[in-house]
Amino acid sequence: MRRPAKLDLKMGRYLMLQKAKGRTYFPFVTMLEPLEACNLSCAGCGRVIEYKSVMDRRLSVEDSLFAVHASGAPIVSVSGGEPLLHPQIGEIVRAILAEKRFVYLCTNGLLLQESLDHFPISPYLSFVVHLDGTRPRHDDVAGRVGTFDTAITALQEALARGFRVNTNTTLFRGSNVGDLHKLFARLTQMGVEGLMVSPGYAYEDVSDHDLFLQRQESIEVFRRVLDRSKDFPLYNNPLYLDFLRGEREYACAAWTTPTYTVLGWRKPCYALADEHTDDIGDLFDPMLWEHYGPGKDRRCTNCMMHSSFEGASILKAFSRPRDLFTLARGERGR
Ligand code: SF4
Repeated sequence: MRRPAKLDLKMGRYLMLQKAKGRTYFPFVTMLEPLEACNLSCAGCGRVIEYKSVMDRRLSVEDSLFAVHASGAPIVSVSGGEPLLHPQIGEIVRAILAEKRFVYLCTNGLLLQESLDHFPISPYLSFVVHLDGTRPRHDDVAGRVGTFDTAITALQEALARGFRVNTNTTLFRGSNVGDLHKLFARLTQMGVEGLMVSPGYAYEDVSDHDLFLQRQESIEVFRRVLDRSKDFPLYNNPLYLDFLRGEREYACAAWTTPTYTVLGWRKPCYALADEHTDDIGDLFDPMLWEHYGPGKDRRCTNCMMHSSFEGASILKAFSRPRDLFTLARGERGR
């Protein structure tokens, strides 16, 4: 299964249009969290703690479209919480797809198999199943035995029915490189479209801070996990993968992925919410970004999250034609 060419064309056109308008701060991807409730309590997830008092809240279809329109980004990543717990998730996704925006529905996979009938098979829709390792490692992080097998069974069913399926893996301290290569080899063989990777972010509300990687540790682990000789279908762009390997430097560009939740837009970013705001324009204010990013806020020191630095790598490529070429070829075309 291959990433649809129309996705890259649409994104390329959108970026050129924003540049032509002279915009410096604009969104690439809307992160939509229509609820924060989850059916797991994974080590490393801050949301279940951060939104404890509003776990019963749900965004309506109208609320969700409001956020998608306010942002205007051509890609919408739907997560949470576990989005498949939302009773109107099928309606929300269909409403976004009707506007020909690309939707990535992020799920732990537990409810995926029984939910597949709620979604159309479309080049605009991909499921993103979260897997942090093979069975023992993943079940350990998820805190429940059987999570891995349920997710894999659902993923296979989705692929068999013709859905696009990607996976997402978060790396923590103690991530086992050999185990991740085993996982990636299995997923590649199953025919997933791509493998997304990201370092875990040390949320202030997460109690187990020993899990998270310091920046240099991250680089050392990523260098081994992202072994170029393995030829895995990595989904992140090649410039960001180089950044994870410590071969490039970028400044934070978290405004590229504004995150809308049951309390409004997280400000400043997907990882930090010093405030929530109803006005997405607050996130595109250059003054805001004078206060955030590595070297500006201690909480940003070890951050290498794709929700910030993947967008940064694309923005930077506009001033480096060679990088644009690398982006166009992709990781496997190098
Ligand atoms: S560097 Fe800081 S502001 Fe930027 S995404 Fe990371 S935590 Fe958020």
